[in-house]
Amino acid sequence: MSSSSRQPVLFVGHGSPMNAIETTPWSRAWRTLGASLRTPKAILAVSAHWYGAGTFVTGQAQPPTIHDFGGFPRALSEVQYPAKGDPALARRVADLVRTTPPTTLSSAWGLDHGTWSVLVHIREQADVPVIQLSLDARIPTSEHVEIGKRLAPLRNEGVLIVASGNVTHNLRHAMGVMRSGAPTTLVAWAKQFDDDVVARLAARDTAGLSRLTDTEHGRMSHPTPDHWLPMLYAAGAGGDDAVSYPVEGFDLGSLSMRCVRWG
Ligand code: ZN
Repeated sequence: MSSSSRQPVLFVGHGSPMNAIETTPWSRAWRTLGASLRTPKAILAVSAHWYGAGTFVTGQAQPPTIHDFGGFPRALSEVQYPAKGDPALARRVADLVRTTPPTTLSSAWGLDHGTWSVLVHIREQADVPVIQLSLDARIPTSEHVEIGKRLAPLRNEGVLIVASGNVTHNLRHAMGVMRSGAPTTLVAWAKQFDDDVVARLAARDTAGLSRLTDTEHGRMSHPTPDHWLPMLYAAGAGGDDAVSYPVEGFDLGSLSMRCVRWG
């Protein structure tokens, strides 16, 4: 393929699943972001919401839309993102990432809301094949960066990598703000962590990036690592490419909605 087909890497802060069906500052910005992209040959999604014991990749020719949440309006449970899968690309990803034990193709999952709540805006037509890669909860943090680096060659093959999580994600804090209905003021630990991430990205310091959650404000920003780990895949795959921020800002006083684009 020609170099003109090289795709960027995206990290998208997805926030509330309601962004899928509501017009919000975030969903509007994702549409603008989508319009700025050249049509990829396929999309490899790395979602916070497929986090478990092993590295898997969706292997179906037609991956199901997974509604992995409760307590939201029926309209959200009726969203379908009918993109086709790409079993051949799934096998290529499994070969590339060289995990131990080996990455296997799975039909136990599909496209979860970390993927589709964003893609319904970035690629509304659902006309590009999508596969999704899981996050192995058992491997060291640094290994997630290494897997991301091994995915980088796919970019030259027209594959758009979309990692979906949040730069800060303390669900307990966010839910408390939502329930209280109080005006939201930005909390210091979230601002500090968001700033730290920008500084490490500017320095191309993926090792430093992967250690940020070891700090006190890092632990507040990520009581669990699931929404953070997709960033490490994106930074690994993004390499030394120019970094830009198509979306910045916070929801609910602590939830960074920052998006990062490499290339
Ligand atoms: Zn989420």
